[in-house]
Parts: sequence; C-alpha cells; structure tokens
Amino acid sequence: MTRRRSFDRGRAGQRYECPTPGCFGERLHWQASCRSCWKRVPADLRSRMESARAAKGRHLISGASMAIAGWLVANPPAVAIARITGEGAR
Ligand SMILES: [Zn+2]
Repeated sequence: MTRRRSFDRGRAGQRYECPTPGCFGERLHWQASCRSCWKRVPADLRSRMESARAAKGRHLISGASMAIAGWLVANPPAVAIARITGEGAR
C-alpha cells in the first residue's frame, strides 16, 4: 500500500505528505499532518504540540509530531480503511 506520490520539493516552501495512511494531503514542514487530519488529532496531542512549539524545543516538537503521526497511522480515516480493505493488496 505504498502509493506515495512525490510532490515537487524545494520550491514554494517545502511540502511533505501527510503521514496518515490513505491520505494524500500536503503538510508544511512544521505541521504534523495535513489540515483535515489535524482536526482529528486528539486535543491532548495537539496541546502537546502547541506547548512544544511555544517552548521552541526541537526534541519536544519532533517527539510530539511523532506521537501525532503514530496516532494517525493507528487511527486512519474511515475512507482509508475502506480503501485498504476494499482494494486488497494493490
Ligand atoms: Zn491527512
């Protein structure tokens, strides 16, 4: 299920793919996920990221964004689940 698209990198600000499986949204380098997935992230993880940014701690920020990415991988949107189970191994 690796259908990763390589976006243009290096111009118009760095863009990265959203870590959520089945989501091909774009995020900026300081964002943990795309905007629509960010809305689904639990409040405690979001506030962890916000306080990490406020403290400007790189380790805190990367730890928080890894926790968020992990949550998104464990909790993909319903659409992504349907896609994965519906299409089989493709
Ligand atoms: Zn997303």
